Amino acid sequence: APLLLWFRRDLRLADHPMLSRAVVSGRPLIPLFILDPETEAIGAAAKWRLGLSLADFAARLAAVGSRLILRRGPALPVLEALLAETGAEGVHWSRLYDPASKARDTAVKAALKAREVAAVSHDGFLLHEPMEVQTGQGSYYKVYTPFWNAVRGRDVSSPDAAPKALAAPDHWPASEALDSWQMGRAMWRGAAVCLPYQAVGEAAARDRLSVFVADKINAYRESRDFPARDATSRLSENLTYGEIGPRLIWHEGRRAMQEGAAGAEHFLKELVWREFAWHLLHHTPHIATQNWREDWQAFPWQGDSAAAERWRRGMTGEPFVDAAMREMYVTGTMHNRARMIVGSYLTKHLLTDWRVGQVWFAECLTDWDPAANAMGWQWVAGSGPDAAPYFRVFNPAGQAEKFDPNALYRRRFIAELSRSPPPEACQYFEAVPRRWGLDPQAPYPAPMIALEAGRARALAAYAARNAER
Ligand code: FAD
Repeated sequence: APLLLWFRRDLRLADHPMLSRAVVSGRPLIPLFILDPETEAIGAAAKWRLGLSLADFAARLAAVGSRLILRRGPALPVLEALLAETGAEGVHWSRLYDPASKARDTAVKAALKAREVAAVSHDGFLLHEPMEVQTGQGSYYKVYTPFWNAVRGRDVSSPDAAPKALAAPDHWPASEALDSWQMGRAMWRGAAVCLPYQAVGEAAARDRLSVFVADKINAYRESRDFPARDATSRLSENLTYGEIGPRLIWHEGRRAMQEGAAGAEHFLKELVWREFAWHLLHHTPHIATQNWREDWQAFPWQGDSAAAERWRRGMTGEPFVDAAMREMYVTGTMHNRARMIVGSYLTKHLLTDWRVGQVWFAECLTDWDPAANAMGWQWVAGSGPDAAPYFRVFNPAGQAEKFDPNALYRRRFIAELSRSPPPEACQYFEAVPRRWGLDPQAPYPAPMIALEAGRARALAAYAARNAER
């Protein structure tokens, strides 16, 4: 009897423990993707990008003699229906660690076991599963550096090669058509603007990794903070959908390190920030929705506002902030340094609740990841574990001078400052909804808040909170 392989954020063939084990079983395999309510609810850009990933993965499966069966609906009834239709004897998947996935998967496992169907989950999403990394006291890590020290020397098994063929069942169950899911519906700007910036699928992800290791990893440490340089791997987009596996990246990074590439260890450390984010989300799921630190619960964050709307639209009048917000809207990604600066501006200069930023990032990023996004926002806000202290207020103008000295990044996304703007800057105006009423010919807005005054206000709010305690 066949096995059902339930794919989620693991849309690849190589470095895939669940798939390798299933192939070894010698059973016919039925790959499946379920568009369940949890997946329906993700942000517009991520959902559109997931649709591209599914199309690519279906083609890869076809090339090894298999198919991707698509079904829509809550996971358990979909699985039950397919078990009945196909006579499959077991369901396999790769474990995820966010609260919604864990709740869903636990319920599915219990229900299948009650029906005596084998429900088997596997590792593969991370290098080290969150429950496998423990402090000497048997607890989880709240601080990154000891976490890094705990995992840096650990063995990571070699990534499995992609299987050359997958055994097909005698009869394929029916699949829904991907087009009928309209994954890009909420992302009307997607195809026109964002597409050229994506590298979709397993082959493209591996190319990215090769190019990075060959050309960029050596200078990674010095160059990674300059948003105008193409100096980082950009693999977060692919990792989000599992188009590439972390073990493959780890081993390539290690190899580069052994060959003497100066930036390689720093790169591995960044990859471990991803591990740390999932570690935190698993052990303290409230990081995604609540101020992580108890003593921050009463901080007077301001809610959504007209100022926050200008931040979302890239119209604050602060060029570095606006360039970054537009970069995200146009390309589906934002440079890490810029994420910290726009996050600081929102939570400090505008005193706005980090969750307002978290939600907008989730809507716009094609590399949206619930763990990294939550950790990143709480780090910036100061409310998270191992966070930047609140009184560290990034000065966007100073940061721009330091990390964008020739204004290349700012000019790339701000048409108003330029007589002959680069194409990306104009794309932004094509992409925004007409009701925003933006015009590249209109003068660039004056800063909506004086940087010094905003900083003073943030520090005063922080001091008042401390005085109350
Ligand atoms: P590289 O510099 O090439 O790093 C390699 C890999 O390491 C990345 O692909 C990523 O998987 C991991 N990594 C690097 N930095 C971090 C980090 N700070 N936290 C977690 N993992 C990291 N990253 C996401 O993947 N999704 C998000 O939704 C996300 N939201 C963020 C929100 C805020 C406010 C901040 C400050 C950071 C956020 N990050 C997020 C982390 C970081 O900005 C991106 O991972 C990085 O910019 C991706 O670019 P890259 O792949 O070229 O990274």
